[in-house]
Amino acid sequence: MADPQSDPGSRAAVQTTAEQKTAAQTTVVQKYGGSSVATVAKLQEVARRVVDTVHAGHQVVVVVSAMGNTTNELLALARQVSPRPGRRELDLLVSVGERVSMTLLAMAIEDLGVPAASFTGSQSGIITDERHVSAQVIEVRPHRVRRALDEGRVAIVAGFQGVSRHGEVTTLGRGGSDTTAVVLTAALGAAWCELCSDVDGVFTADPRVVPDAQRIDVLPLDAAAALAQAGSKVLAADAVEQARRWGVQLVASATGNASGSGTRLPPGPVPDDVVGVASDPLLVRVEGVGPDGLAGVDGAVRAWIPGPSGPFALVDVRNVHGELAGEEVATVTVVGRAVVTDPGRTAAVLAACRPLAWWASGEALTLLVRREDAAAVQRAAHAAAGLGA
Ligand code: ASP
Ligand code: MG
Repeated sequence: MADPQSDPGSRAAVQTTAEQKTAAQTTVVQKYGGSSVATVAKLQEVARRVVDTVHAGHQVVVVVSAMGNTTNELLALARQVSPRPGRRELDLLVSVGERVSMTLLAMAIEDLGVPAASFTGSQSGIITDERHVSAQVIEVRPHRVRRALDEGRVAIVAGFQGVSRHGEVTTLGRGGSDTTAVVLTAALGAAWCELCSDVDGVFTADPRVVPDAQRIDVLPLDAAAALAQAGSKVLAADAVEQARRWGVQLVASATGNASGSGTRLPPGPVPDDVVGVASDPLLVRVEGVGPDGLAGVDGAVRAWIPGPSGPFALVDVRNVHGELAGEEVATVTVVGRAVVTDPGRTAAVLAACRPLAWWASGEALTLLVRREDAAAVQRAAHAAAGLGA
């Protein structure tokens, strides 16, 4: 038999076969949110969807959130024990949620005859800074994930968690599993990242609040970033930022639908037209305190707004693990250049919504409202901005 090293013809043939194998075996990352794995039956559905993707010829990395309401339940337990639980312990505690779902999903996939292995954030090489509860990913070294794929396994990675350079378990802030999925996609050079939830993509507003919200088929990443920053729960803001930074191809799909349905999110700027309405419903307006006074919750401060009686802070209560005094408010943001550049549209939205305060950027108009008015204001803003059916 000819030695491929000394026979250029057969060497070329070997290379072609290798290239064909790579082309057929695209690596993809799929992230499943907590509601998609809330019960054993749903977890098994996810396992089947993953196995379908494997049978379609892909190498699959799965990032999974904690089952259902687990993270909230763990945080509630901590608050029963102490009004101000330490952040280091909180991170170790909540990281358990994703360990439960990742191991069970690996078992469910193996039960369908496909080899799988699960990994914690630390085992997956998700290296973060030291900021407990809202850590930033600084590096990804997915050696073990890659090895699992090379061995023909599905690699399951615990979302939302990482490890600091000092070996401390950290978490990435609520909704952080999306970020895990995006940074892994970039580090592995995977073809795309599919974020699967119970909603079929990104809508012009939260369809549970605004019944005539429309599904968006293609949403440029910059517009997705603006919606996510404004509180849209479909995508975590940090994840969209990372997708922009690394040029990750994102798709948001419903777990119940076939892979590839939903909203595609290619790189691109915020469109001229109005694209959607998002709300950040769990904010507290804190007045009369400077940044120093909020140093303990700095990761949770969403914005400093100049007000008539000095700047006030809008703090996201979901990332505050202790007490915080202030007025319960929400923001409702209309994204799209036209809502700012067309004075008629701006006036129509303001007249329909009567906010406590409002401010505009080049691409969005944000309204500050009382928390209990947030749902009604989202419906009014959606209609006044011309997004209704
Ligand atoms: N389980 C975490 C949370 O509830 C992370 C996530 O779901 O993305 O925030
Ligand atoms: Mg989420």
